[in-house]
Amino acid sequence: MTFEVVKDLSAGLYFFNGKRQTIQGSETFPVYEARSGEVVAQCPSADAAHVDKIVDLAAEAQPQWGRLTPIERGKVLNRVADLIRQHLEELAVWEVKTNGKPITEARIDIEASADMFQFYAGVAPAVLKGDYFDLPSENQTRFAYTRREPLGVVGCIGAWNYPFLLCVWKIAPALAGGNAVVFKPSPFAPASPVLLGELLKAAGLPDGVYNVVQGEGKTGEALCLNEKIAKVSFTGSVGTGKLVQQNCAKRSVKPVTLELGGKSPLIIFEDAEISNAISASILANFFNQGEVCTNATRVFVHNSLVEKYTGELLEVLKKLQVGDPLHEETKVGATINEPHLKRVLGFVERAQAQGAKVLRGGQRVHPEGVEKGFYFDPAVITNLKDDMEIVKDEIFGAVLLILPFEDEAEVIQRANNTSYGLAAGLYTKDVGRAHRVAAKLQAGTVFINTYNDCDVNVPFGGYKSSGHGRENCIEALHAYTQIKAIYVNT
Ligand code: NAD
Repeated sequence: MTFEVVKDLSAGLYFFNGKRQTIQGSETFPVYEARSGEVVAQCPSADAAHVDKIVDLAAEAQPQWGRLTPIERGKVLNRVADLIRQHLEELAVWEVKTNGKPITEARIDIEASADMFQFYAGVAPAVLKGDYFDLPSENQTRFAYTRREPLGVVGCIGAWNYPFLLCVWKIAPALAGGNAVVFKPSPFAPASPVLLGELLKAAGLPDGVYNVVQGEGKTGEALCLNEKIAKVSFTGSVGTGKLVQQNCAKRSVKPVTLELGGKSPLIIFEDAEISNAISASILANFFNQGEVCTNATRVFVHNSLVEKYTGELLEVLKKLQVGDPLHEETKVGATINEPHLKRVLGFVERAQAQGAKVLRGGQRVHPEGVEKGFYFDPAVITNLKDDMEIVKDEIFGAVLLILPFEDEAEVIQRANNTSYGLAAGLYTKDVGRAHRVAAKLQAGTVFINTYNDCDVNVPFGGYKSSGHGRENCIEALHAYTQIKAIYVNT
């Protein structure tokens, strides 16, 4: 089992028939390297005809893969996990260049991706099973049983903030469930899923079972409209998620998993252990340049702590290093691209115009050696009102907002006063309050005295407009299968 990380993008950014290739397309998009700001390739976009052809190839390949037992499929998935670990450093460097995240964080993503394949390889044999039911009959001649079967070909659409890991979140359970997949990455980070294709091929996945198409909205739409696609799993913004759900119901009726945006609160009660709460605030806001769907941008701090919290936070942040993400000591790397950097800067400028006070950061910076990349100095902002755009809308950048509060009921109401419901966090030493508040927060994940933990065993997904369905966990594997009931009269 050999594998080489081929970094030459001219070999093509499509993956079908078991190999990296390209297509003849009339429209192209530029592929940026976030770290350096350079355009490193032009990639043709797939139109509906291209998408349909690749879906047909996947549909041909799926039955052979779907017929294997979960243990047989698991052998391939375990080999992928091994290959990912063997090539961890090269894959992490690739993620850094593509996405701009610090190398120390990219290594965590790659290790978590290996865990994901190993997890589904391990649990699938126990989970993908049927049930048996006795039916009323004199001599036990009637019974029923169920089979858990693959869906067929699933369409997966990805965001750009975790190009490799979020692809694996979908691909590992989909393949463990016996499906073929057509994956469309974000055009902002299109290459990592192609590398995954090569890893899967090296691990022995039959040709045609895993495929990558490239393009923007029209390509994603073609995948949703294709009637051979049995399910769509989507990660992205709420606006696009709504279109995905509509298009998935236009020509056929397909289940949809939606992993959408957030505007998460982090509540720091008056009895919180302050230095831990500050570390968590930094992690919750500046990890991955703040380009994290669970980012707790709304930090509610008890009135009695605001001065101490703010002073100590600003002191700690003096050491925060924005820089070349390939350097080990860098804590904040590059924003994904110029338009996104401008979007984040725009939020800060408009908030200032409305009276908000920027206590640190909030500007573009040009670290040594990577001057052309898209670097933003993380912002801490105060003097805010709950109805300001910056407090209500998802920024998806390194912007921490300090919102003072007085009592528990008030802060729960304000924390829940959003259409999003992806995550929430709270810091307190009061065990009773911790669980009482956790139960009342309208979010798919709540963190108590911690933030942004993520484990493959634990369900991940949104309440309210942050989406529906869950990733990670056994539930995600179930969601890539369907149950057939069989009645028998012997
Ligand atoms: P986006 O909605 O702009 O794009 C997401 C994907 O949808 C891209 O691949 C894009 O090309 C594709 N797309 C665009 N139009 C489409 C259409 N009409 N039909 C089908 N696909 C279409 O989001 P983004 O900017 O790539 O990602 C950022 C968003 O993703 C943020 O809101 C963030 O919170 C969210 N996100 C959520 C999670 C989660 O697990 N909940 C994880 C990461 C990111």
